[in-house]
Amino acid sequence: MYDIVIVGAGTAGLSAAIYAERAGKKALVLEAAAYGGQIINTPDIENYPGIAHISGFDFATGLYNQAKDLGAEIKFEKVLGIETDGNEKIVKTSGGEYRCKAVILATGAKNRPLGLDNEKELVGKGVSYCATCDGMFFRNQPVAVNGGGNTAVEDAEFLANFCSKVYIIHRRDAFRADEKEVERLKAKENVEFILNATVTKLNADDKGLKSIEVTDKNTKEVRTLEVNGLFVAIGQSPDNTAFANVTKLDSKGYIEAGEDLKTGTDGIFTAGDCRTKTVRQLTTAASDGAVAALAACAYIDAL
Ligand code: NAP
Repeated sequence: MYDIVIVGAGTAGLSAAIYAERAGKKALVLEAAAYGGQIINTPDIENYPGIAHISGFDFATGLYNQAKDLGAEIKFEKVLGIETDGNEKIVKTSGGEYRCKAVILATGAKNRPLGLDNEKELVGKGVSYCATCDGMFFRNQPVAVNGGGNTAVEDAEFLANFCSKVYIIHRRDAFRADEKEVERLKAKENVEFILNATVTKLNADDKGLKSIEVTDKNTKEVRTLEVNGLFVAIGQSPDNTAFANVTKLDSKGYIEAGEDLKTGTDGIFTAGDCRTKTVRQLTTAASDGAVAALAACAYIDAL
């Protein structure tokens, strides 16, 4: 029997574990994949207050070790669903089930695919959602990055350091990414911006991606770019369907919760990118983790 089961070992989940353990509660963190969440793939974090530069991997590993050292248990099991039994919650996983007094859902969000015909088959053969993980396979080769947020711009900057040419393709002419990052990317000689355009076709042979077709939104002109790699960085979408019985999901599948991070079910809280919110940043994920953990502690103390 745990006090709090936290679903997800990203920034929000691990922050929640740190706050729960420091408040004297026994926390179990359940993670389906690897710890760290999305930030683990970011080459360089520059906007976390108090830390000028840190890699996503170092940041996530620091959080993971901090949570473990404080006493949190972390198990790598996929959560399949949650049931309630009076005041107790039963968390069902691929490995069994865990009873607890409160649950914090910090499931994050997954990379959004482009939805092109052969995209799935080309993952690992030219199509990637992680420049930090796969970039080096394309050393001295031409690649493209699709997206206009911080991930796309940072990925393009990272790839430009060792790829022969980097195209950044964005569907609008204004970027969502921080202005400073965009300006830095513009200064790179081997980066070409293709704006108001979308990737409409992936051309491959049996060895992998050979080129992509990019269509201009205004002129409908199609341009073929000879690239061996395409890095898709068009944002994320949540995966909360397993929790639809105990939470209310909005039209995009995010868990609805106010700033108190309470879901519709007593004792079930949410934190981080998996919930409805306007700003999805590392700082807001960490902040959510703290708020949700303290709310869960107060809930348990009042039982
Ligand atoms: P994002 O900010 O949601 O940006 C996604 C981009 O993809 C947008 O430019 C969007 O275009 C475009 N897009 C969405 N769907 C598309 C489609 N079907 N086809 C083509 N383009 C599409 O996602 P993100 O860059 O992954 O960032 C997610 C969050 O993490 C953000 O809050 C970001 O600031 C944060 N982040 C922070 C750091 C850091 O602090 N170092 C690093 C990475 C990410 P529109 O602009 O037209 O909507």
